[in-house]
Amino acid sequence: MRDTLALCSIYSRTCEAKGVLDRLAELLAVEGFSVERPDGGYPAAPAVAVRLSSGKPGPTIQFNGHLDTVHLPFVPPQHEGDRITGSGSCDMKGGTVAAIEALRVVRESGALTKGSILFTAHDLHEAPWGDGTQLEGLIRQGYCGDAVLIPEYLNGCIPTAGRGLAIWKLTIRRPGAPVHEVLRPQSEPSVIDAGAEMIARLRQYGTHLASKTDPVAGPETVFVGQAHSGVIYNQFPQEFVLEGTRRWLPGESRYLVEEEFRRLVQQVADRTRTTIDIRWQLVRDGFRLDTNHRFVKIFEENYTATSGKTLPYGPKAFCDDCNAFWSLADIPGITHGPNSGGAHTMEEWVSIDDMARVAQLYAATALQFCNG
Ligand SMILES: [Zn+2]
Repeated sequence: MRDTLALCSIYSRTCEAKGVLDRLAELLAVEGFSVERPDGGYPAAPAVAVRLSSGKPGPTIQFNGHLDTVHLPFVPPQHEGDRITGSGSCDMKGGTVAAIEALRVVRESGALTKGSILFTAHDLHEAPWGDGTQLEGLIRQGYCGDAVLIPEYLNGCIPTAGRGLAIWKLTIRRPGAPVHEVLRPQSEPSVIDAGAEMIARLRQYGTHLASKTDPVAGPETVFVGQAHSGVIYNQFPQEFVLEGTRRWLPGESRYLVEEEFRRLVQQVADRTRTTIDIRWQLVRDGFRLDTNHRFVKIFEENYTATSGKTLPYGPKAFCDDCNAFWSLADIPGITHGPNSGGAHTMEEWVSIDDMARVAQLYAATALQFCNG
C-alpha cells in the first residue's frame, strides 16, 4: 500500500515516466534487489529490471508492468478503506506493486529452487502518446522470460486471442487555395467528394475483411471514427481529414496489413486526383495464447487454489503488452490484475485486498512454474 501511494504520488504521463521509474528503482535498491536500468531504446526514461535468481538453471517467469499513465489532469493518491484512488492506481501502478510484492514473498520464502523471476517496468505504453516501442526494445535486448504475467486491471477471464490494432489518419488535399465556391476552378478536385469516395471504399473493404474472422478474437475491421472538412458553407475546402482504426487477426503480418491499406488509399488518391497523406500508427500486433501450455495450466491451478473459483477463457478486447510478448518473442502471456476501475478516467481506484490476492497468485504461479 505504501509503495502504491509512493508511485501514484508521481505524475507520470506517457513519455514522461522517468520520475516514477527512478523512484521505483530506488525503492527496490533500498530493499536489496539489484536493479538494472535498460533503456529499451528510450533513454529519456530508462526502464527498471530486477532478476531474482535461484542460482540454478531453469525457466524464467516474467512480471511486467507499465508505469506511464494516460494524459489526463493529475489526481493525487488517497487511501479510503479498501481502496487507493488517484492517477495510475488502476492502470497500472497498483498491479505493478502487487507483482513486486510477489517478488518479495518469493525472495523471503527462499522457496525458489530453479530458474528465476524477471521483473520489468517501463514507459511508452499508452496510445496514442506511446507506441509500445520501449517494451519491444526491452524484449529485443533480452529482458524477456519464458512466460509473462501482466497485472493490468482486467481479471474476469484468461484472454486467449486478440486482434492487432493500428490507428490511421488520412489527410486528403487539393493543390489550390481556399476560395469562394462560385470562384472555384472547375479543374480542381473536390476533397469532400474524394473523402466520400474514401469512406465508401473503406466500407467495401470492411465487408471484405469481415470474412476473416476468429471465433474468439472476432473479425478483422476497418473503422472510421472521425471525418472533418470545410470552414464555412460556401468556401471550397482544401482538406478532408479522416481518422479511424484497423484491426487484424493474430498471426497476420502487420507489414502486409499496412501495405494493403496504403495501396487502397493510393488508388482513391489517383482516381480522385487528390493527394492523400497517411499517418499509420501501430498500437500492437495480434495475440494468441496456447491454452495447453504448462504455464497456463499452472496459472489456472493456482487461481483456483487462491480464490476457489475457475476462470473462463475469453477474448482480449484491448491490446496490451501480452501482444508484444507473443508477436515478438512467441512467449505465453496472461493479463491478470487486481480488482480496480476507472482506467483512462479521473476516477481510478484499486482494491488493496485484491492486490494481496494477486501478489499471492503471482508468487505461487512463479514458484510452480520455475521449480517444476
Ligand atoms: Zn495499462
